[in-house]
Amino acid sequence: MCGILALYTPSTQTLSPFVEALSELQHRGYESYGIVHKLFSKEPTLTVTEGKVSGKTVNQNILYNLAIGHVRYSTVNKSDHVEAQPIKGSNYYLVHNGNLPLFNTKHTGLDTYHIVKKLDQQIQSNTIEGGLIHLINTLPGVYCLIVLYNDALYVCRDKFGIRPLLIATYEDKSKMIASETVAFSPGYTHLFEVKAGSILRVANDIQVIHQATPLPKEIFCSFEIIYFMHHLSKVGDHSVSELRYRLGELLASSEPSTPSSDSIVVAMPNTAIPGAQGYANTLRLPYFPYITKAKAADRTFILPDNKQRIAACKRKFIFNEQLKDKVVYVVDDSIVRGNTLAITIKQLREIPVKEIHLRITSPPVISSCYYGIDIPTYQELVAHKKDVPEICTYLNADSLSYLSINQLKMALGNNICTACFDDKHHNVLLDW
Ligand code: SF4
Repeated sequence: MCGILALYTPSTQTLSPFVEALSELQHRGYESYGIVHKLFSKEPTLTVTEGKVSGKTVNQNILYNLAIGHVRYSTVNKSDHVEAQPIKGSNYYLVHNGNLPLFNTKHTGLDTYHIVKKLDQQIQSNTIEGGLIHLINTLPGVYCLIVLYNDALYVCRDKFGIRPLLIATYEDKSKMIASETVAFSPGYTHLFEVKAGSILRVANDIQVIHQATPLPKEIFCSFEIIYFMHHLSKVGDHSVSELRYRLGELLASSEPSTPSSDSIVVAMPNTAIPGAQGYANTLRLPYFPYITKAKAADRTFILPDNKQRIAACKRKFIFNEQLKDKVVYVVDDSIVRGNTLAITIKQLREIPVKEIHLRITSPPVISSCYYGIDIPTYQELVAHKKDVPEICTYLNADSLSYLSINQLKMALGNNICTACFDDKHHNVLLDW
């Protein structure tokens, strides 16, 4: 999972709003970031930098008409500066969000290079448009691509539409393309989702170059909504916050216990806050933000190795003293490895609280993801080998309950991927 961004503007601009918009996608990865920008009819300039987006390595006063950007989170290879994007092809630059499952089962190395290689081969005897059409019709996998070619942007989304990609326009005919709506600068309207299987040319106008034969249904990654996306981003007509709130309401509707009158609800910050509020309001329990994130804490899930994740977990949260002697319902969005919750429960016991009841607004994660989220091995998943009571004991909670897959579909619709919850992977992604 990464974040991608592009901007086409007929009136020359400075780069600073673009850098700002790219930083809005920071939660999608902060191992490295890169930007390519150019003025009309001029050569492009590439900058890639390790770490978080900052204006320090890019001259933000530079003028440009076209830019593409990328924030990186490695899913198949460890973090490596040389794999930062955008990547240069024969006569274009490209950014990619997604994963090629078939390629990754047979090869090492960054799958984006495979995309560039395939596109380069085609371009030798074809146009960029023909090359992209060939790509989408022959390359199985998960990919949102933006290509900067001459004075236009090409946008391509695979046939399943697992990862998000949207376009918005400005009154001066500027167009912004982003992984999430939170990146769109103020004033951008006419927002629409790039259709799965489509290739668009974005310049003064937006042209549909190709619409691939639709697959039986689009499958959007449910984990994007559960955890990854920014709470202010929108999916369809709803904000991610609203959808997470709904997950909390549904979880409360199947609450297995009768909470005592001294019970309170807290959230694992920040992703689980709307879910905890939905859960608390439905059960008429008080919600308090008694666990807060330390200022410097990063998202531990997207750190590149387990040692770094555990060290980061220990200094990640601040606990309010009001938690002392309370019956606490702790709502979290998911349990993947269980590192964060195990450490948090230990810290809550030290306060001490009276009881700890864990409530999770997603089903148990029992399987790896091959479609661009870093859930790499079954062995790392606490729910792969353990059932719910065993996980409860392992985490040292007093009780534990999860949302069901049916409830997840009730909240998010049927066109979602649930493969990491039911282990039913989409074989068509390996061969179309
Ligand atoms: Fe998303 Fe899970 Fe499907 Fe991967 S397997 S795309 S994380 S829902």
